Amino acid sequence: MSTAFYSHSDCRRHDMGRGHPECPQRLDAITDHLRATGLDIALDMRDAPAVALSDVELAHGSRYVAELKHFLEAVRASGEPRAIDPDTTACPDTWQAVLRAAGAAVAATDAVIDGDIDSAFCAVRPPGHHATRDQAMGFCFFNNVAIAARHALDVRGLQRVAIVDFDVHHGNGTEDIIAGDERVLMVSIFQDQLYPFSGNVPLAGNMLNVPVPAYTKGGEIREIVDQQWLPLLEKFRPQMLFISAGFDAHRDDDLGRLGLVEADYEWITRRLVDVAKRHANGRIVSCLEGGYNLGALARSAAAHVRVLAGV
Ligand SMILES: [Zn+2]
Repeated sequence: MSTAFYSHSDCRRHDMGRGHPECPQRLDAITDHLRATGLDIALDMRDAPAVALSDVELAHGSRYVAELKHFLEAVRASGEPRAIDPDTTACPDTWQAVLRAAGAAVAATDAVIDGDIDSAFCAVRPPGHHATRDQAMGFCFFNNVAIAARHALDVRGLQRVAIVDFDVHHGNGTEDIIAGDERVLMVSIFQDQLYPFSGNVPLAGNMLNVPVPAYTKGGEIREIVDQQWLPLLEKFRPQMLFISAGFDAHRDDDLGRLGLVEADYEWITRRLVDVAKRHANGRIVSCLEGGYNLGALARSAAAHVRVLAGV
């Protein structure tokens, strides 16, 4: 199996200010850990290209895309950071990071569909799963996974893709974009009564949302994966899997109150790889979402990538 690791130095330059949990050091922690453990040698390390706005517009409204571009270019010209949402701040380098983050997801999708690689992990920021069709929020500007999934369907001609989201927060943006698109099945798990306080009532039938109470541990989450996610995924027979890989459901992460550990991420990833092997020629593109305890993030991402790469 060949697995690519997409990232770009521009993703590191996006900075939401001192003390913000979604910080550039998150990417350093992941790449440092990959190097320290020798896992980088097993991966095809690639630089992410900038996304084409025509791809972005498969998931976002063209007016939103134009307004965000205008806003972020104005921030770049001013040289001063500016908030776009109470949690989300743009800095002069944000536009380039946003383009590379979505570009990684699309390039990885093309490489996997072309058979150039089997799977990919995109270590990118800003994350994407809170970005709705027409709104930036929750540290997110463009919805990287939704853009890549639509690219696989609309540009590359796949007929069915699945999006799996195990971030501690509900992927409201992805849900907003793909609700009612029967070519996409979304399955997710997230902490109930946590930001963005949505997901209890799914917007459409093409998604399974499983809110779980605070302090739920890995054993119970594995049961949900086996009893609720897998039967739906098996029935849907996705031709490709996209993963919104947030690692903030880790027990050491302060942004949520769930109890996953590295072994749980490894186990969940193995289940997803099995689904992909059965139905999708092993095709998986996974994109980093949350994960704010740097040590837990680095170890959990490595556990995830190790299973993707089969090493
Ligand atoms: Zn999150």
